[in-house]
Amino acid sequence: TPPIHVVGGGLAGSEAAWQIASAGVPVVIHEMRGVRGTEAHKTDDLAELVCSNSFRSDDAENNAVGLLHAEMRLANSLIMASGDAHQVPAGGALAVDRDSFSAAVTARLEAHPLVTVLREEISGLPPAEWDQAIIATGPLTAPSLAEAIRAETGADALAFFDAIAPIVHFDTIDMETAWFQSRYDKVGPGGTGKDYVNCPMDKDRYFAFVQALIDGGKTEFKEWEGTPYFDGCLPIEVMAERGVETLRHGPMKPMGLTNAHDPAVKAYAVVQLRQDNALGTLYNMVGFQTKLKHAEQVRIFRMIPGLKNAEFARLGGLHRNTYINSPVLLDGSLQLKSRPGLRFAGQITGCEGYVESAAIGLLAGRFAAAERLGRPLSTPPATTAFGALLGHITGGHIVSDDEPGKRSFQPMNVNFGLFPPLDPGTKLKPEGFEGRFRGKDKASAKKRAVTARALADCKAWLGLEMRQAAE
Ligand code: FAD
Repeated sequence: TPPIHVVGGGLAGSEAAWQIASAGVPVVIHEMRGVRGTEAHKTDDLAELVCSNSFRSDDAENNAVGLLHAEMRLANSLIMASGDAHQVPAGGALAVDRDSFSAAVTARLEAHPLVTVLREEISGLPPAEWDQAIIATGPLTAPSLAEAIRAETGADALAFFDAIAPIVHFDTIDMETAWFQSRYDKVGPGGTGKDYVNCPMDKDRYFAFVQALIDGGKTEFKEWEGTPYFDGCLPIEVMAERGVETLRHGPMKPMGLTNAHDPAVKAYAVVQLRQDNALGTLYNMVGFQTKLKHAEQVRIFRMIPGLKNAEFARLGGLHRNTYINSPVLLDGSLQLKSRPGLRFAGQITGCEGYVESAAIGLLAGRFAAAERLGRPLSTPPATTAFGALLGHITGGHIVSDDEPGKRSFQPMNVNFGLFPPLDPGTKLKPEGFEGRFRGKDKASAKKRAVTARALADCKAWLGLEMRQAAE
């Protein structure tokens, strides 16, 4: 069997290679470290953790990333097995000893008879003779390869920085204060004239809000990142510093919006949120990309009327990050539509974080191996964490029609907002529950129902139950 080629031996590439070899297909990993480094990696080991040593929450019942851990364990993940074997105490989180973790991943791959690790930089798209390949070169993809990807996909399709605005769970927005309306009730293609959630501010609140943005704690760019401020992408606090009225004439302009709850009162400024996923469970804060520290974002953005109790699926950020416009470029099995046989995996596809990157590597590896073996491709159900994350990357995404040319796809961690809602008849109240069933109790029962559904569907997808029943 001819090998599958994996470019990049990071979190995604290592997991992809493991899945391919585990399916009985030879695989070649091409990893440049050893020949050329990146700005963030410090060693030559595969699957190096460049910053924190945490895989975040390991709670599979109440947390979406914990659920993803559990699904990856079911799918024979090398990254999870090595993480579990080299964990260090971290409460409910799964944290690992970074050196022994990466050494273990490297050793397991190098010892596998179907795996070859080559230390070399791949500086163009995979050659035609590699009929099956996966590009998993991560947020710091070497410039020559990034240039080749850009040439293949188009200039707008590859970003070198993310500009992330916070995303709010819709059901935590107070719609007694906020209202639905598009500016000037404009109906865009596929729109209704009520496409935005609007949060009004009076003059005093607006001034206090601008001051809070200026005073709030910020994170700094790393020296090698440069300062990527470009048109239309200024952090909200930088706009605030330019003058107290700047935001009111930018993302917070009140024109063309009438408070549905109190039409006589004209708002001094309005924060708008736009639907972010096809399910309508997530809304992003338009124009609110920011370098404010995460805790500061929560504190300051909850000052916005209507967002007092907001829960955030993602907080804002601005980082050096190479990633492609996957919803447009990739098919549902992570394959580049313009070059069948070439897949992308990991953070370059627009997921975020070690675990998510490895999970997308796991899927890309399985898809490529199935194709090589002539087996039917089966994608994970949308109800699983695998499927929810894959859905964020390859589809189900709202592309903004009111800002022509502006890309709305931004990287994201796995979170409950990406999962389809529960069936309306799902029983949430536990047997014997006393008192009023609402608020926190209801929210955590919902999470447990989503995670139970996900694990059951994941097991079914992997065929584990069938195999176990046959044994
Ligand atoms: P990587 O793990 O980066 O792997 C890509 C691999 O491809 C690298 O080994 C690289 O050397 C190789 N490569 C690149 N170009 C080529 C080429 N042309 N030829 C051959 N090989 C090539 N995530 C977290 O979860 N927690 C954090 O704390 C965190 N901190 C971060 C801090 C920084 C500064 C950065 C840049 C990222 C951070 N991330 C963090 C994100 C993290 O990098 C990713 O989640 C994860 O490493 C992505 O996995 P990946 O496999 O897609 O990319």
